[in-house]
Amino acid sequence: MAMGTITAAYIASAILFILSLSGLSHQESSRRGNWYGIIGMTIAIVATILNPAVNSYGFLLVAMVVGGAIGARFAARVEMTQMPELVAILHSFVGLAAVLVGFASYIDPNAQFEGTAKTIHDVEIYLGVLIGAVTFTGSVIAFGKLSGRVGSKPLMLPARHWLNLGILVACILIGNWFIGADKSAGMVALIIMTLLAFAFGVHMVMAIGGADMPVVISMLNSYSGWAAAATGFMLSNDLLIVVGALVGSSGAILSYIMCRAMNRNFVSVIMGGFGTTSGSDEGGEDQGEAIAISAEEVAQLVGDADEVVIVPGYGMAVANAQHPVSDLTRMLKDRGVNVRFAIHPVAGRMPGHMNVLLAEANVAYDLVLEMDEINDDFPGTDVVIVIGANDIVNPSALENPNSPIAGMPVLEVWNAKTVIVSKRSMATGYAGVENPLFFRDNTRMLFGDAKDSVDAIRQAL
Ligand code: NDP
Repeated sequence: MAMGTITAAYIASAILFILSLSGLSHQESSRRGNWYGIIGMTIAIVATILNPAVNSYGFLLVAMVVGGAIGARFAARVEMTQMPELVAILHSFVGLAAVLVGFASYIDPNAQFEGTAKTIHDVEIYLGVLIGAVTFTGSVIAFGKLSGRVGSKPLMLPARHWLNLGILVACILIGNWFIGADKSAGMVALIIMTLLAFAFGVHMVMAIGGADMPVVISMLNSYSGWAAAATGFMLSNDLLIVVGALVGSSGAILSYIMCRAMNRNFVSVIMGGFGTTSGSDEGGEDQGEAIAISAEEVAQLVGDADEVVIVPGYGMAVANAQHPVSDLTRMLKDRGVNVRFAIHPVAGRMPGHMNVLLAEANVAYDLVLEMDEINDDFPGTDVVIVIGANDIVNPSALENPNSPIAGMPVLEVWNAKTVIVSKRSMATGYAGVENPLFFRDNTRMLFGDAKDSVDAIRQAL
């Protein structure tokens, strides 16, 4: 394929990716957005394969078949609850690819640069490997935290800020040594910096605890974009630069939105430590008795109600309860009950997690409201059903300044007449914080798996 045609194909892909992002920003247009993305990526892959610079088709075919088969197998097998972990581990691949491309570019015998061009190429390699290495190990640890293989509590090493600062200063000094060094000394510098960046990625995410993980997920998403953009500079591939910049900036905007939703400052998130157990979370105090309720009683309550709000959380994803929840909504609507959904920005384990589940279960978009849109409506609500949510409805975030999640905006469900909490036990949520909501006078606990509980309410109705 002629270079002009390839450039045209890349421009078409870049436009499709931009249309894809704008489509994905609204639920109604998200399917269309996905299609734009799929078509853009197909054009990009075909144009790249047909690039005259590609001369080893056998090798490429083997890599694509093996990679494609592994990807398809994982995508087919992954449970909805494992989706956040899958996203985290995929980010780590982008980071690792940037590291490997950086090393390959450095030792490439065909890359003969002189003077300023060499300095620019060296800077591209150094930054690409640095961002890629932090993204790689950071995402692996995020994967471990989301899948429960690594504890969600923040790791608080003594003098950890000094440690981070030390690594940063070392990377700058090594960078100065790397640029302009001969190949063998440069390789030593590159390896030392990579090891330091690996350690930094591990330490950065290990230090971020409990409720701050949503910001880390979107931040690593952003880093993976910048790593891809750096790879694009190394390979002089314009499309990779554009796509990397799109992912990098949209991830950064998402991190900002998540920080705002959690009333957190981005720098303090990165510094780590939020969600430590140092504060009192009222766990030790006697909070009284939680009162249990049966599914039949819940059916009676919601059947007689005018206004019902459903608050889904991570447990709804675990129980796969979105379909029965959708059916319950239809049944109540048919009886004239006004049912709406309240979505907290960090509900579940990835941004938009609950919206995806409810869309999958065909819940009408206009019933699904954001936290800010519905928080003032709770005093006028007869029954709130909290389905597998915990941290996002924890009043101690607002009422207890010593709580590890103090300051995080939450859904103020306790202002409703009655709150039903469907979960299996009195266990804490992701942030590991006790929830006084369960002991309030107007709260009733519906114990059991969320899917079974919602099915039982439907039966009783
Ligand atoms: P939580 O993790 O706070 O609580 C989920 C609750 O679901 C648990 O208390 C659990 O209680 C219950 N549960 C689990 N399985 C079932 C089941 N089968 N049936 C019924 N209940 C079940 O979830 P939230 O959605 O309230 O809050 C999200 C948390 O995750 C926040 O702390 C957020 O910061 C964090 N997070 C969010 C990310 C995001 O991007 N959205 C990313 C990473 C972390 P029990 O065991 O008793 O059933």
